[in-house]
Amino acid sequence: MKNIVVLGAGFAGLRTAIKLEKKLKNHDGYRVVLVDKNSYHTYMPSLQEVATAHKGEKIKFADELQFESELANSVCFSISGIIKNKKIDFIKDEVIGINTDTRSVILATDQALEYEHCVLAFGSDAAHYDVEGAGTCCTSLKTVHDALRVRFAVETAMKKASEEDKKELRFITIGAGLTGFEVTAEMAKWMSHLKKKFGGTEELKINIRLLDAKDKILSEVPDKMRKLSERRLKHLGIDVMTSTKITKVEPHRVTLVGGRTLPADIIIWGGGVKGLGLFGKISGISLDKTGRVKTDEFLRAMGQENLFVAGDSAYVLDKKLNRPVPATAWAAEQQADSVAGNVLNSVANEQLKEYVPKYPGFVSSAGGKYGVAHIYGITFAGFAAWAVKRMIDLKYILSLYPVFRGLGIWLGELRLFTKND
Ligand SMILES: Cc1cc2nc3c(=O)[nH]c(=O)nc-3n(C[C@H](O)[C@H](O)[C@H](O)COP(=O)(O)OP(=O)(O)OC[C@H]3O[C@@H](n4cnc5c(N)ncnc54)[C@H](O)[C@@H]3O)c2cc1C
Repeated sequence: MKNIVVLGAGFAGLRTAIKLEKKLKNHDGYRVVLVDKNSYHTYMPSLQEVATAHKGEKIKFADELQFESELANSVCFSISGIIKNKKIDFIKDEVIGINTDTRSVILATDQALEYEHCVLAFGSDAAHYDVEGAGTCCTSLKTVHDALRVRFAVETAMKKASEEDKKELRFITIGAGLTGFEVTAEMAKWMSHLKKKFGGTEELKINIRLLDAKDKILSEVPDKMRKLSERRLKHLGIDVMTSTKITKVEPHRVTLVGGRTLPADIIIWGGGVKGLGLFGKISGISLDKTGRVKTDEFLRAMGQENLFVAGDSAYVLDKKLNRPVPATAWAAEQQADSVAGNVLNSVANEQLKEYVPKYPGFVSSAGGKYGVAHIYGITFAGFAAWAVKRMIDLKYILSLYPVFRGLGIWLGELRLFTKND
């Protein structure tokens, strides 16, 4: 039996494995193997909600731990549960190498897993662009642990400020892309609730800053959406500092080019993405300057016949627009469909099909039940945009679970993420 090994059970990998299983389940010659270091799949587009969700007064939780575990469960889905009735062999292990000559994947438990075809879908790491201290003094928002860490840090800082009768609490997000924008807007809403929760903070001034080296926020979105987003940040009292390059981050201070320093109690890194260090050790592939794997038009790693790449791990150049396809969930899903199709074509000795990206647009949460969106050429903000974001969540959850189970998960998410107004 030949192995088709899918590495990573994120947006791209999980979907690829499910698509392959659908077509190959009655094919005796092939086995679909899925590998991930975690036992759960993370729904990243809601991580900023986990980091900033207000508990509200109506629903009673036994304690903070119960609330946190419900938050974590709302974005982490058991991989075994999702593939329960499917002929997919799941291995929970960390991949430490890929040998493209022997066509084998090396696992942390010292096993080697041979493959006929392999799909690399390990997502990305946070890119710190060589800013000194950024990796150690900022929290990124890449995992559920990061989100809970941010939560804890904010609550602790707020509690301390209240106990010590501080006059100001300073919060900085570095990087005004979609992740930085969303977490900062949600944070502003949550902070106003926390201020009420911790007594003795009447005088406390909350100072929230969003910094970016570029001359505008959300450089990837159309101008009209950016304008609406800027208006929202202004309404939330967030101080936006563009064309602001950072040279150094220390535990309670950010240093800008020119030497000016900004004091901070909490610093979040909302910057870009880069490839995993592991990719540099794989022979026979090439990486772009951010360390992501360069691909050909069929999403194979450049120079490799049997190694496909999908999602954030893949550097895919959109030839028409002459720019890389952005690292987003929708791109990961489209690439999963394309890669699954091409693996099946390879198995059947048929012609591979070129991947052509389709751009659905952008939808972002913007604090409470308010969002900003640009989809299929229409730009809008407010409750409708927020509702669209929640519908995207539902559509995704229903792609993994049967209808009633999926609806239950989605309603559970709504129950937790709707108190930030
Ligand atoms: C806070 C936040 C909000 C976002 N919001 C949006 C949004 O609203 N819309 C949108 O389109 N995109 C959004 N994105 C981007 C989107 O989440 C990513 O583009 C998408 O998750 C990429 O999918 P992927 O499959 O490539 O990687 P991931 O979903 O990151 O999955 C990678 C998987 O690989 C596993 N893995 C990694 N290394 C190893 C290893 N060595 N061994 C074994 N397993 C490994 C990981 O455990 C993980 O399960 C957001 C991202 C963040 C961080």
